[in-house]
Amino acid sequence: MNYDLIVIGSGPGGYVAAIRASQLGLKVGVVEKAELGGICLNWGCIPTKALMKSAQVFDYMKHAAEYGINLSGDVKPDFEAIVKRSRSVADGMSKGIQFLFKKNKIEHIAGYGKVKPGKIVEVTDMDGKVTEYSAGHIILATGARSRELPNLKQDGKKIIGYREAMVLPYLPESMVVVGSGAIGSEFAYFYNTMGTKVTLVEFMPNVVPVEDEEVSKQLERSFKKSGMKVMTSSTVESVEVSGDKCKVTIQTKKGQEVVEADIVLSAVGIATNLENLGIEETGIQVEKGKVVVDEFYRTNVEGVYAIGDIVHGPALAHVASHEGIICVEKIAGKHVDPLDYGNIPGCTYTHPEIASVGMTEKAAREAGYDVKIGKFPFSASGKASAAGNKEGFVKVVFDAKYGEWLGAHLIGDNVTEMIAEVVVARKLETTGEEIIKAVHPHPTMSEAIMEAVAAAYDEVIHI
Ligand SMILES: Cc1cc2nc3c(=O)[nH]c(=O)nc-3n(C[C@H](O)[C@H](O)[C@H](O)COP(=O)(O)OP(=O)(O)OC[C@H]3O[C@@H](n4cnc5c(N)ncnc54)[C@H](O)[C@@H]3O)c2cc1C
Repeated sequence: MNYDLIVIGSGPGGYVAAIRASQLGLKVGVVEKAELGGICLNWGCIPTKALMKSAQVFDYMKHAAEYGINLSGDVKPDFEAIVKRSRSVADGMSKGIQFLFKKNKIEHIAGYGKVKPGKIVEVTDMDGKVTEYSAGHIILATGARSRELPNLKQDGKKIIGYREAMVLPYLPESMVVVGSGAIGSEFAYFYNTMGTKVTLVEFMPNVVPVEDEEVSKQLERSFKKSGMKVMTSSTVESVEVSGDKCKVTIQTKKGQEVVEADIVLSAVGIATNLENLGIEETGIQVEKGKVVVDEFYRTNVEGVYAIGDIVHGPALAHVASHEGIICVEKIAGKHVDPLDYGNIPGCTYTHPEIASVGMTEKAAREAGYDVKIGKFPFSASGKASAAGNKEGFVKVVFDAKYGEWLGAHLIGDNVTEMIAEVVVARKLETTGEEIIKAVHPHPTMSEAIMEAVAAAYDEVIHI
């Protein structure tokens, strides 16, 4: 046997699983056909956050006078330099994985991996050379790509997906973004801030539709205030590319509307990378485009596992990583609890940012809970006032009967750094009273969590 474990795919699912497995004493090889680090480090979480940071800096500079700073002359974004910075941040992160692999004695097998019966992985390298490796265990962590809709076929130039949106060679004058999930909303915010005329089209009645309705409404207000056109309950029927322009026909509740734009960005979800992976040959069960696994990520084929975007559950980097850790700890014979999918935080890095965990108010009510709601607006926060970012709020949802903390929904400056408090508190089954009595530093945005909980218990001080 060549390896105790072979992982196919080096995204946050695959590389984290590999490192944890190596820590547990397994001999590990990772097959990767592209850059180490997967979508997250190279074409997802990290490069987009670098772009968001540039947008935020630009936004601050546009409003510098409000902070008593005089910037003489016009502040302009250098779009090429912004893209270059984002790419260089991604490259640095990918090199970091090379370092971690070396440190943990993990072998990087460059090439395209395919699983074969008998726990064999066939790897085709860049020159077409095929090598077979055997392993005690094989984890599939091949991730996903941008989903294409039949009426929104991506040509990579005028109708694009997230990859192209990250490296456009020029700043478009206008853009239609289709889909207002985290990815669509982040790009809509980025390009709108850069000066592109953005139209955001969402099929559902609210933007960021998985979020609490009040959060969605707040983001929509904020987007509209910043000049973005937001069309909810609307569907893109067709896109006609002629010359430099795209004619986008959109069906709205009030009828048809045609919007012209330089670029159409399709951000309507993801499609899993399961092609030519040996799924059929080995008889691995797939349902609705995702590999079927049990709570420890075992497929129906003995010794073959799947984690990350290719299995059911939220398509998020931190989910993929935790699935990887649980999977290899179970392989190594450790006692391990299944992942609690009810306590997964989700973040959107627009401005204002969004961060949430657990049930929305609506979901809690629909599940039959008698809920206790607490809300604290950042307009009443000293830190938010000082920072000049008073938009947004913290909303918490408790079960009125037993006091279980069912969910938290935050929108505002820096809230993505605050949500972990709620995740930990819920993990430790902390009560609302304990949160109120836990001293939060002043002035911080995090006080708003304590105050929102206090509001739920009619003890709020600052409103
Ligand atoms: C624009 C964008 C922004 C995002 N932002 C966030 C965010 O802020 N926070 C967050 O949590 N999530 C974010 N995500 C989602 C996150 O990137 C994914 O959930 C995460 O990368 C999934 O990890 P993974 O390990 O399952 O797969 P991936 O990261 O997709 O990695 C899979 C790897 O497998 C390789 N591979 C595929 N097939 C083969 C094969 N046959 N042989 C060899 N190698 C193969 C691929 O080249 C790739 O490197 C974002 C996604 C996008 C697109």
